[in-house]
Amino acid sequence: MYSIPITKATQLKAKTPSDKLGFGRVFTDHMFAMQYTAQEGWHNPRILPYAPLSLSPAAAVLHYGAEVFEGLKAYRRADGGIQMFRPQDNLRRLNDSAERLCLPQIDEALALEAMRQLVELDASWVPADNGASLYIRPFLFATDPDLSLHGISNAEFYIILSPSGSYYAEGVSPVRIIIETEDVRAVRGGTGYAKCGGNYAAANRAGDRAAKKGFAQVLWLDGVQRKYIEEVGSMNVMFKIGGKVVTPQLTGSVLPGITRRSCIELLKEWDIPVEERLLSVEELLTAMRAGTLEEAFGCGTAAVVSPVGELHYGDISVRVNDFKIGPITQRLYDSITGIQYGSIPDTHGWLYPVCE
Ligand SMILES: *Cc1c(COP(=O)(O)O)cnc(C)c1O
Repeated sequence: MYSIPITKATQLKAKTPSDKLGFGRVFTDHMFAMQYTAQEGWHNPRILPYAPLSLSPAAAVLHYGAEVFEGLKAYRRADGGIQMFRPQDNLRRLNDSAERLCLPQIDEALALEAMRQLVELDASWVPADNGASLYIRPFLFATDPDLSLHGISNAEFYIILSPSGSYYAEGVSPVRIIIETEDVRAVRGGTGYAKCGGNYAAANRAGDRAAKKGFAQVLWLDGVQRKYIEEVGSMNVMFKIGGKVVTPQLTGSVLPGITRRSCIELLKEWDIPVEERLLSVEELLTAMRAGTLEEAFGCGTAAVVSPVGELHYGDISVRVNDFKIGPITQRLYDSITGIQYGSIPDTHGWLYPVCE
């Protein structure tokens, strides 16, 4: 359907052992690239050796932050085959993010095929160890070599691949988080729902402060009233309160996570009530005092689920589920990873095959 020329690397890199990979530090031998100009649209799609980029020092992305990205994974099954998890959803969201930043829309079918071919070419980099995977990072940015603020007429799109070790090398363990009361990540009408680099830059200060105090993540509140819970770090967040799972509704300042969506779909199938609605800190504190806060966890591609063991707000500090992963959190983790690695049948059509 699409013909994507491939230039193979003449020298292949040495592979890093799985237990030394960490996250996002090692890259494979190849990458995908294509260019956009207002006159020609997207053109020159190709797979080439992984290499540094050449950019004008005036490129718009470097000055005005015109960049959006995605993150998803390819998993190796026990039989050796490789599959991706809901990649079409990531590409749809990439275009939604691009629309918000006035970056050009990509052809999602072409990008999907590019991703598949790239992973297939670098298939030897997909780790086979339990919990390890190949992280896929598509990204798109404006390259106009021009400091004046005009529309975007030059852009580039890349896909790079990074073999990553298990997020939970020492087993799924709960984390301590702190409710951020000063900085906000996003506001309604802003770019909170878009996966763009600028959101991460805005979150750095709170993240650094939390890390210095020994917390793994910050719990973000809404930017206007500082009252409603939005996300935890760069994950969506869910709370089990009195038998129901409550997660912040997508108001525009919350990133519409694909793991979040998968959790909601599974919970509904299991007849566990799920509510997408506003959830205030006050309601959460009341539930904690009443002992009805049963579980709390973040969810996202990197960690799948990340149980919250302890929550801090001002001088209040509370433990959740005795600092242990809760049964629903565990069941979601087992089900999602089971589907991703092929040990549980995919009844939802969530998997996309790369190669057998
Ligand atoms: C990517 C991301 C998530 C999680 O989305 P997934 O599709 O589940 O990986 C949540 N919040 C933020 C801010 C993100 O950037």
